[in-house]
Amino acid sequence: MNKTVVKLGQLSGARITIIKNDGKVLADSKENPDEMENHAKRPEVVKAIAGKVGSSVRYSSTLRKNMLYVALPAEKSGGISYVVRISMFSQDVNKLLSSLTKVMIIPTMVLLLFAAIISILIARTVSTPIKRLMIASRAVSQGEFSHKVNITGCDEVGELALHFNEMTEHLSDYVLEISSQKDTLNAVVNNISEGIIALEIDGRVQLFNKAVIKLLGVEFVLGKFYWEMVREPEIVTLIEKVISTKKKIKNQIEINDKQLICTGVISDSGDHIIISVFDITDIIELSKIKKDFVTNASHELKTPLTSINGFLDLAMEGCDCETNKYLEVVKRNTQRLINIVNDLLTLAELEKKGLKFDSREININSLIQNITAFLEIKAKEKNLYLKIKLPEEDIFIKGDEFKIEQLLVNLIDNAIKYTESGGVTVTLKSKNGKAIISVADTGIGIAEKDISRIFERFYVSDKARSRKSGGTGLGLSIVKHIVMIHDGKISVKSKPDKGTEFIVVL
Ligand code: ADP
Repeated sequence: MNKTVVKLGQLSGARITIIKNDGKVLADSKENPDEMENHAKRPEVVKAIAGKVGSSVRYSSTLRKNMLYVALPAEKSGGISYVVRISMFSQDVNKLLSSLTKVMIIPTMVLLLFAAIISILIARTVSTPIKRLMIASRAVSQGEFSHKVNITGCDEVGELALHFNEMTEHLSDYVLEISSQKDTLNAVVNNISEGIIALEIDGRVQLFNKAVIKLLGVEFVLGKFYWEMVREPEIVTLIEKVISTKKKIKNQIEINDKQLICTGVISDSGDHIIISVFDITDIIELSKIKKDFVTNASHELKTPLTSINGFLDLAMEGCDCETNKYLEVVKRNTQRLINIVNDLLTLAELEKKGLKFDSREININSLIQNITAFLEIKAKEKNLYLKIKLPEEDIFIKGDEFKIEQLLVNLIDNAIKYTESGGVTVTLKSKNGKAIISVADTGIGIAEKDISRIFERFYVSDKARSRKSGGTGLGLSIVKHIVMIHDGKISVKSKPDKGTEFIVVL
């Protein structure tokens, strides 16, 4: 074995020692193993016997030089039987290392240079265009849409730059369009006579026009809360109501001798409150002039018409049958004119602002009984029944007895007028301290399209029938006004050819 070890030592240029696990040297490439002392305590050998790779640099007393020792464990039948130790002079190792370093440095330097060149290339092709894109996007974010990125590559960055330029062009177009729309909107909003304020949902003013400043006499400031500027309690209440109910609210408000219709509504998107103010002072003035004219004309017509009527009665007494036929036509029309004049005067009185009426306790049960007593004759003439359904206990309301009577007469009279078979039922009930009067008939009914208009003055859905029965087209207007001045409510349900029911709550 020693010969083989000696040969291996010569070939490798290192000293090789084979040591038994008890430290006895079995072979050595440089010394006679029998003359060598036990190596069990050598640090590298201790490590190798423990199954690890041991190494150590120390002074060799045999060779009188610094040596590097490396010991490897050699396993046999599951345990460490031998240790193979290789040792070299430290100076040889250093020589080897320095030649290795030389071999390593040159390729490393070349690699570094190569990396630097690649970095510069990457910077040129990627970082510089990205920097340009960054500068351009900053400019665009500040509103400079004319800023373009000048990158002409076919790679991803080039494509990005192309899209960026296209995007800024589109953006610039949109901004132009929006600003032109804004100009148009401003022009419209500022040139309409209707006042407009748009508030954000928290109450900050976002838009207002010149008209609203003039109409409300308030100097609005954009971005400020409306309550910091609006002093008019009715407007503040209206806005608060719109916000709390989320519903459209419309009120007539008097400000600085102007009659204004203020409408508040939440925008479709739900994030704005739009208040519109419409000046109806002129309209009200005009309608007052019209009403005054009608009232004055009615007053003027009343006396001559009454005297014509009286003279007609006289004339008819002494006339033959043939002339009487014509006089009856004249009499019927004169009576119609008198009815119209009377109804117009009644309406004029009911429409008077702050009308004071004679308010007393009215027993509705007996009032209905009295009215139906004389209208029953009219019903019987047409072979109609006139039923009344009254509660056992009398119901009282406060109001003007004459006017409530007129209201009921108009409704029951209409029911008889517009019924050809069957009859009329008047029902009285009491609910939550209110009197509920229903006048239901089995008559011709009212077409759906007419129902919302029947309370208008002179609105008649069946002109021929109304005229024939001496109708004026003013009866339901009077009814509505009487209900209104008593703070009541009136509603109507009707089906053509089935009948109509008017319900009054007082
Ligand atoms: P008029 O004098 O013509 O009856 P009103 O103001 O009393 O005028 O009524 C307006 C219109 O409403 C009538 O012309 C008629 O077409 C309709 N109307 C009122 N009451 C009834 C009813 N009970 N049944 C059917 N139509 C009715």
